[in-house]
Amino acid sequence: MSINQEEADLIAKDRQYVWHAMTPYNEQAPPMVVTEGKGSWITDNRGNRYLDGMSGLWCVNVGYGREELARAAYEQLKSLSYYPLTQSHVPAIRLAEKLNEWLEDEYIIFYSNSGSDANEVAFKIARQYFEQSGAPSRYKFISRYRAYHGNSMGALAATGQAQRKYMYEPLAGGFLHVRPPDSYRRPEGMTVEQFNLQCALDIEETIHWEGQETIAAVIMEPAITGGGVIVPEPIYLEKVRDICTKYGVLLIMDEVICGFGRSGRKFGHMNYGIKPDIVTMAKGLTSGYLPLSVTAVRKDIYEAFKGKEMYSHFRHLNTFGGSPASCALALANLEILEREQLVERSAALGERLTEELSVLLEHPIVGDIRSFGFLMGIELVSDKQTKEPYPLAGVVRIIGECKAKGLIIGKNGDTVAGYNNVLTISPPLSSTDEDVTFIIETLKEVFANFKV
Ligand code: PMP
Repeated sequence: MSINQEEADLIAKDRQYVWHAMTPYNEQAPPMVVTEGKGSWITDNRGNRYLDGMSGLWCVNVGYGREELARAAYEQLKSLSYYPLTQSHVPAIRLAEKLNEWLEDEYIIFYSNSGSDANEVAFKIARQYFEQSGAPSRYKFISRYRAYHGNSMGALAATGQAQRKYMYEPLAGGFLHVRPPDSYRRPEGMTVEQFNLQCALDIEETIHWEGQETIAAVIMEPAITGGGVIVPEPIYLEKVRDICTKYGVLLIMDEVICGFGRSGRKFGHMNYGIKPDIVTMAKGLTSGYLPLSVTAVRKDIYEAFKGKEMYSHFRHLNTFGGSPASCALALANLEILEREQLVERSAALGERLTEELSVLLEHPIVGDIRSFGFLMGIELVSDKQTKEPYPLAGVVRIIGECKAKGLIIGKNGDTVAGYNNVLTISPPLSSTDEDVTFIIETLKEVFANFKV
């Protein structure tokens, strides 16, 4: 078979057998069949190379092709391939200890498979905690519009993007939403600080009107990532922490994207000097090499589960959560992050990206640029005065032009609400200086040639 025939055959089989996520049924373009990854670069089956400016789905923090990680999984699979965590195994213990070091506090670690799982676990733990701590009426959760927390019926209920929920409702009950601190779109006459404070106070008001005794927890990412890169001011998270403490409401930090160095600190919330009650993590925990997620729970919450009756323990089990190979690989992944100082590197690369791309603000459609460590959002608008979101077709065109030049970037937002106008960039933290130069130069060139 010639290469062309072979590829046509592969694509035909893909069409026949593989259902792609988030892809229209009538999608004309064949999927990119990715065959290899090394560092920040991936190669498709035609031999095209791309710099993966999205780290897959914001997860390949240490870059592709690390033999050390493959070996860690291989060695573990050889010695103990599987055992459930109703008992224990060495990699789960070692990783839980290591994560406590990373969290700089004492947490008990519950293992699952995905970010959605980790958030579901957080919700169930929060509800049961209150159930058996004399406050059984606390069952509601507050999250923010525009945030994404996962695909399952609870995590999707927490999600604040209407486009993802249509057709799957009703979802799990008891989830409330408040506005995010989107400073770029704050009301006229308000300073950024005033607006951030007001957004935090919205949460207090929601607690007040809903009844303090009905609220279990607030869930939020340190900075909204998938919903358009919305980075709060310190006053916002400080106030949210105070409000949660004041009303006895748990604060769940979704660190699925922001964790493991992405934000320039070990975890996103560390940029704000606050301590969450529950921390959920996935993605960068294994750099996407194997599935694994964690729900880290403050020790005294765990203590509420110490009764001996059948219903006092956490009645939640998943077969694969905390599999030995995933845990061993995660440990090796953390070792790389530490050894290569990738958390610090993330902060430095993020700073460079922000500084050198700030010139894009002169372009007529670039309304705002926001960064959180080595993660950036470029908000596109049709009119800088009205901030009318730039049409989706144009946003897609820019992404296509970057790809044609060998750079993969993403977009995020909410089509239903009309905000699908934020380009996202979240490259591996291990990117070389040359990689970052390539990202910067490619984006500058694409914008310079872009016909509005
Ligand atoms: N929380 C956040 C902030 C996420 O970005 C995601 C995934 N993009 C999830 C949770 C869900 O993770 P998963 O896809 O692993 O279920």
